[in-house]
Amino acid sequence: MQAKYDRGDIRRLNAVSALKQLRESGPLSRAQIADRLGLTRATVSAIVADLIAASLVSESEFEEGGVGRRGMLLDLNPSCGSMVAVELDIDRVQVVLANLGMEFLWRGEASLSAPVTAEEGLQRAGELVEQALGRGAELGLPCFGIGVAWAGLVKRATGELAYGPISGWQSVPIKEDWEARFGTPVYVENEAHAGAIAAHHLGEPRGVRDLIYLSLGVGLSAGVFVDGGLLRGSEGYAGQVGHTPFVAEGHRCGCGRQGCWVTEIGASGVLRKLRAEGVELPEDADANLDWVPGVCELGRAQDPRVLRALAEEGRQIGEGLAQLIQVFNPSRVVIGGHLRDLLALCEAEVQATLEEKVLYPMGKDLSVVVSASPEDQLLGCLATVFEAVMQNPLLVSAS
Ligand SMILES: [Zn+2]
Repeated sequence: MQAKYDRGDIRRLNAVSALKQLRESGPLSRAQIADRLGLTRATVSAIVADLIAASLVSESEFEEGGVGRRGMLLDLNPSCGSMVAVELDIDRVQVVLANLGMEFLWRGEASLSAPVTAEEGLQRAGELVEQALGRGAELGLPCFGIGVAWAGLVKRATGELAYGPISGWQSVPIKEDWEARFGTPVYVENEAHAGAIAAHHLGEPRGVRDLIYLSLGVGLSAGVFVDGGLLRGSEGYAGQVGHTPFVAEGHRCGCGRQGCWVTEIGASGVLRKLRAEGVELPEDADANLDWVPGVCELGRAQDPRVLRALAEEGRQIGEGLAQLIQVFNPSRVVIGGHLRDLLALCEAEVQATLEEKVLYPMGKDLSVVVSASPEDQLLGCLATVFEAVMQNPLLVSAS
């Protein structure tokens, strides 16, 4: 069946195309946009009027060719509204308010003492979201949406927190509840998917089409971009690599099975290796990740026990990662998550293991990096809201 477009669809698609030109090329005149899109000046003027009415685009005067003729240049207006990002982790929740230029305008954080129920976790997160929205209102910025990154399986169709293998949360209708409560669109992503979205849209270089983002913390999952699109799977659950079998008869996992990859390289596995080496750790080390900076410090001071434990960690990361690389053939692998600071101390072992385990031509031009930012998940949430606005800019003008 032939798809039919009505005038509204065409108006939207033209607006999306004009915004894309401005995002990619920076300031342009109406005439330049018309030339690039092959549209008439009148059509472009109408689109631009919509986008200026929505404050998504601003115009400024410039001098043409230094002869005193004035022209108008159009550009995206980062201060036209706000977005909220929520990182909902096992042991803490972080919330930021940002403008469309990804500049943070407010941030708040609360720690959660594991194990925390979904009700308690969402209550703390909801309080912080209210504060963020309050700050946005004080600044006079309309909110374009809330992005949530969560350490568990997110059901694509409904934005439900379907299942947290470590938190134990199940079937939490966060999207539905928060859209009703806050009156703005809510986008929910698995934490590794959010990290991959950040690496794809905001990473250096931008727009890498085939990449794997491995999120390593208490849990472990992957976000995979294949040919420029995030691989989600039929339900949205793709990338749960932490629960692939890694050691036969291995340690018991939160998912109820034994020997999952996360039981070896996730926080519980790192703690076990450190304890086996006799490294002293805080009493509550199993309940949060506050021990990570201290262990990093010992590692940087060349404590041989920490270095031995992390060398083993690096080898186990490399072994599992080699499988993923051979399945997806990425050009870039980014390792992030709350254990990323430890990874800087075992990068050499990860690389050496990959050289040994990945088929030669696949590993040749592959770059494997530890994320430079502790905020991938928050940035991925913001990028999700931003992309939604860019895909439907006229909804903003209607609001
Ligand atoms: Zn498991």
